[in-house]
Amino acid sequence: MKKADILFKNAAIIIDGGNFIKNGCLAVAGGKIAGVGEKLPEIEAERVVDASDKLLMPGLINAHMHVPMTLLRGYADDYDLQTWLNDYIFPAEARLDARCVRAGALMGIAEMLASGTTSFSDMYYFCNDIAECVEESGIKANLSRGQTFFGGNFDFDMDEASREMRDCVGRWNGFDSGRIRFEASIHAEYTSAPPLWKALAAYAKEAGIGINLHLSETRREHEDCIRKYGMTPAALFERAGVFGSRVTAAHCVWVSDEDVKILASHGASVAHNPVSNLKLGSGVANIAGFAKEGVNVALGTDGVSSNNSADMFETLKLAAILHKGINLDPGLMTAGMALGMATVGGAKAQGREEECGRLIPGMDADIIMLDLDRPGLMPCHNPVSAAVYSAKGSDVCMTMVRGKILCENGEQKTIDLEKVKYELKNYALPHIFG
Ligand SMILES: [Zn+2]
Repeated sequence: MKKADILFKNAAIIIDGGNFIKNGCLAVAGGKIAGVGEKLPEIEAERVVDASDKLLMPGLINAHMHVPMTLLRGYADDYDLQTWLNDYIFPAEARLDARCVRAGALMGIAEMLASGTTSFSDMYYFCNDIAECVEESGIKANLSRGQTFFGGNFDFDMDEASREMRDCVGRWNGFDSGRIRFEASIHAEYTSAPPLWKALAAYAKEAGIGINLHLSETRREHEDCIRKYGMTPAALFERAGVFGSRVTAAHCVWVSDEDVKILASHGASVAHNPVSNLKLGSGVANIAGFAKEGVNVALGTDGVSSNNSADMFETLKLAAILHKGINLDPGLMTAGMALGMATVGGAKAQGREEECGRLIPGMDADIIMLDLDRPGLMPCHNPVSAAVYSAKGSDVCMTMVRGKILCENGEQKTIDLEKVKYELKNYALPHIFG
């Protein structure tokens, strides 16, 4: 084994989902995991970390986010999705500019890094600005330009959002050896129409990129679609060729049994956002049913504007316990299954399953460390149980992406947090809210 950059010793280590080592070593070299096990052969390292009372685990993957919406945290609570969007969010978003978006994106990324997220999937606009924030911060991201189309003639070559998307695909897809990916995005069925779906489906297939979309989030959206087209949103998207690419479908709260079969047959992933779905009163997705049909499920927070946090540990615990309660079955969703959705499932949704989501040799060193020496995490009978049922984002004491420490003991290493706070308070908030 070549010389390691960092060697962690005496750590509890979660390898993937429910598999763990109670006391082991993990070596990182060249941005990759070089070795992991109860014992490693004698190895030289630049830095040796005694990780006694620490837990190493794969970084969490937030599969559904709108990171600049961090600016709207707590701005409009306790409304249903349509009122929330039409009366509060869309008018506030109409006042955004690139400088606001940067402040919100960097604040959101700082929150994610501090609470253990190493990769996220995003849908928004001002995508070049968001991508530059991702570039600077060191986090991984699958970004996309959420597209809408409300009728009339759709010209894919001239349409402004489509141009922004193509420009971003050219500039950012594959950036830094794939740390950033850029995808196509249909905002949702109820905010667009068939010409957009067909054009994006054809483009994504040709470009070999994924598609990010919202699917059947609310009952109203799902039923209005059936009234309008005589088909569900999933069936319409299938007919338009959307599932010919790697699709991440957020929410899927109201999808039919047939829709689930469509998702399964095309290998689409569902991004499950239980906190946002409950807060907006949208309902609860039938995650147990998806799993039975073989649909890959990932976890997301959704935008902070409807969550109101980017802490994936909160989402992880809720995803683990919610479906036990709904189905009156505590064994239905084990801690290992829930953690698998937040790691391996997220990596698969992002097309990164060979790259991250598990702590095994050869994978990128996307690792987080939790401090088990805290009252809220003692005793630790089982590291997976601790991670899923007890830990909070604030228990994360180190976040590493590709072997580079981006946040340690609360300190951001790549983001100038004071500057971001200043921008948020003195520019973005006055600009949007007056
Ligand atoms: Zn969303």
